[in-house]
Amino acid sequence: MPTVETVRGPVDVDGLGKVLMHEHVFTLGTEIRENYPHYPDTWDEEFRVEDAVRQLTDMVSRGITSIVDPTVIGLGRYIPRIQRINERVDLNIVVATGIYTYSDAPIQFHFTGPGRIFDVPVDPMTELFVADIRAGIADTGVKAGLLKCAIDEHGLTPDVERVMRAVAQAHMETGTPITVHTHAHEGTGLIAQRVLREEGVDLSKVVIGHSGDSTDIDYLRAIADAGSILGMDRFGIDAFCPFEDRVATVATLAALGYAEKMVLAHDASCYSDFYSEANKKAALPRWAFTHVSDDVLPALRERGVTEEQITTMLVDNPRTYFSGAQK
Ligand SMILES: [Zn+2]
Repeated sequence: MPTVETVRGPVDVDGLGKVLMHEHVFTLGTEIRENYPHYPDTWDEEFRVEDAVRQLTDMVSRGITSIVDPTVIGLGRYIPRIQRINERVDLNIVVATGIYTYSDAPIQFHFTGPGRIFDVPVDPMTELFVADIRAGIADTGVKAGLLKCAIDEHGLTPDVERVMRAVAQAHMETGTPITVHTHAHEGTGLIAQRVLREEGVDLSKVVIGHSGDSTDIDYLRAIADAGSILGMDRFGIDAFCPFEDRVATVATLAALGYAEKMVLAHDASCYSDFYSEANKKAALPRWAFTHVSDDVLPALRERGVTEEQITTMLVDNPRTYFSGAQK
């Protein structure tokens, strides 16, 4: 039986159950917090841990048994805090390796790499990603279960391309699946597919994240027809695409036979310091880990999506995606 690495160790892919394929426990900027501890909210470690346990327990009470947390470098990945929370919530959490940037890579990679001042044959990014997958992250004993990169509205900048190719090369070496943050309105999912294909990546092991921000059925079909999985993964972020449009798009694609090419999620966080908590709650009141279970699934059923198709999106597609992930 294939297994997938989680915070609590390897899990049979059959044991994942219902999976939300893109959620963050936290997204944080460590350097800002260390220097401006009251911006945008005052950080209270104990309060945040308690609050995360409460939010995730709420989600688990709806029958969700696994989440995929693509919080990588650039988003404040910190595994010991996730371990503390996971000790108190019965949940499989798959964590990721990779780099999240829309433009430049961290300066720590600028001077070292193939063809750089400190010229080395293999990009150190690739080596770090492979080590996170094979040996584990820092000294936590937790191994990364997927790879992540991003391509936003600025498109394929030199560093976005460098990170994407490093992710692809780590995938080719380990078989670990990939998720890509994309800008659906700019159609950057197609660019990501081209670059990953050039590196030899099997596109069925790639989630094109944030595809659900788009209602462009032709764009979404093009991505799915090339083999990738559509991340319909921002339910609750009505500012990017309203609830009714998100639901209608999933229902339309399911009716066209694409349930096998979609996964569901919120892209929510227990807490993110990208904005103040008060601003988030005022602007996006339904953006929480229970929205898919409480609001989205009933709305999909009303629009003719079958129970079988829901199981395909929540259970079967994640299982297939994580099968054969280890080399
Ligand atoms: Zn995200």
